Amino acid sequence: MKKQNKKIFKGYLPKELRKYRNIIEEAYKDDDGIWVYVDYGYYTDDIGLHLYHEDNWSGIVKVFNPTFGCTCEECKQELTKRSKGDENAK
Ligand SMILES: [Zn+2]
Repeated sequence: MKKQNKKIFKGYLPKELRKYRNIIEEAYKDDDGIWVYVDYGYYTDDIGLHLYHEDNWSGIVKVFNPTFGCTCEECKQELTKRSKGDENAK
């Protein structure tokens, strides 16, 4: 189930990341730093990983390079769900 109350602060995304806003599921800052979750279907360092965590935005910008094609169960299920939704919408 997709989160309804997205915590993404698109207005605060550094300009380097704005082109990725469609594939950023959630992005926020707390006492531990910056957390950026990428959308289903994308992975970060490895299959099944969907999170960037750095101390600050410049750290995120440096490492942010999500790859499409995550094949973890979570993504598979969500993408299947979405493609079914698309069919229903036609
Ligand atoms: Zn995944």
